[in-house]
Amino acid sequence: MSGVTIGVLALQGAFAEHIKMLRQLGVTAREVRKPEELDGLDGLIIPGGESTSMALIAERWGLVQPLKAWVAAGKPTWGTCAGMILLSDRATGQKQGGQALIGGLDVTVNRNYFGRQIDSFEAELRVPALGDPPVHAVFIRAPAFTQTGPGVSVLADLTVGDKERVAVAVQAGPILATAFHPELTDDLRWHALFARMAAEAAAAGEQGAS
Ligand code: GLN
Repeated sequence: MSGVTIGVLALQGAFAEHIKMLRQLGVTAREVRKPEELDGLDGLIIPGGESTSMALIAERWGLVQPLKAWVAAGKPTWGTCAGMILLSDRATGQKQGGQALIGGLDVTVNRNYFGRQIDSFEAELRVPALGDPPVHAVFIRAPAFTQTGPGVSVLADLTVGDKERVAVAVQAGPILATAFHPELTDDLRWHALFARMAAEAAAAGEQGAS
């Protein structure tokens, strides 16, 4: 996967693990902390962590508007867990006052869907977009999508206990979102999928420019 450069938002949370996995795939990867560090990237990962803290730090560092502009420009963006919450157009279960969402993904996310009783858990997911072997997914105080708009494809869904089936991985054009943490396993398929999305967008951009 030579040629693409992917940034990982490194304000808070699990950014180092994403960088390590991208490098294992031969993708150039770097940390992003300032607006100007978005320049020249073919894709951006917004990692898991704590979405309220991440939003506060992003605001303090002047990143909210540049991130909104990045997503609005149709640049490939992958949010995992807290990152997926920030990419959602609508959120429920937010802390008081809520947080500045970046938005771009036509979904309603529940920030802590699985609740306190099952804080963290692991599940095997069927993900046809990634091929046959199921995905071993690690959920940590995970969100879920309780509603998805017409342009959003559900890549994986899940039901836990008596809760209704909810989407936990979706793609909408250049946006990918996963409620779990692929960077905490050794399955490189999600990172490979996102690197392909970034490569395709870069190639389309070059064609458009020539
Ligand atoms: N539910 C958490 C939040 O609101 C996200 C947890 C995670 O990223 N592991 O930020």
